[in-house]
Amino acid sequence: MYLKRLEIKGFKSFPTKTEIVFNEGITAIVGPNGSGKSNISDAVRWVLGEQSAKSLRGDKLEDVIFVGTETKRPMNYCEVAITLDNSDNKLDLGFSEITIKRRAYRTGESEFFLNNKSCRLKDIKEILLDTGIGKDGYSIVEQGKVDEILSNNPVNRRKVFDEACGISKFRYKKQEAERNLKHTKENLERIDDIYIEIE
Ligand code: ATP
Repeated sequence: MYLKRLEIKGFKSFPTKTEIVFNEGITAIVGPNGSGKSNISDAVRWVLGEQSAKSLRGDKLEDVIFVGTETKRPMNYCEVAITLDNSDNKLDLGFSEITIKRRAYRTGESEFFLNNKSCRLKDIKEILLDTGIGKDGYSIVEQGKVDEILSNNPVNRRKVFDEACGISKFRYKKQEAERNLKHTKENLERIDDIYIEIE
């Protein structure tokens, strides 16, 4: 599985639709300071579900929408689509290509799509668990990340290894099962209370 294509529209310094095709092997993006190189990696993290404005180098989440220039009007929305080659079927979804798309409006609404079907951020997160590709996955190594991993506390460092070994999914499922169990216990307690009242 590899990153095949990125389509950006209205995101940060990319007002018009921009398509970046990544072939197999190494692709380097070069350009002068301030030309938008880091905005491309921000777009990758944003489409994969990044919810922290600070991590995207902004103050508010809507700062990712193109603010306009002297000659171009600001945009009211932005969208980014990332296409992964899945011909090795690493993601067991039955598609040889997987496109994840996120769209956000200035009003604060945000939508996610998986192969053009509307979905929840939770669905995207679950699909990408243990692939290393999620917004916190080790496939995105930003400035300072290597230092962070080396000097991080052991609990956080272990998360990187868990993701690489395929344990994150089970940890996530365990937490979800524990949440459901707690919820069911609370419901049972409520039923007991009602039962006592009726008796
Ligand atoms: P460097 O090599 O210095 O790290 P870079 O190529 O990585 O630079 P970026 O940080 O990706 O550059 O891009 C910065 C540019 O993006 C700035 O010119 C900034 O004005 C522009 N920019 C950021 N957010 C927006 C936005 N919402 N609308 C329009 N332009 C934006």
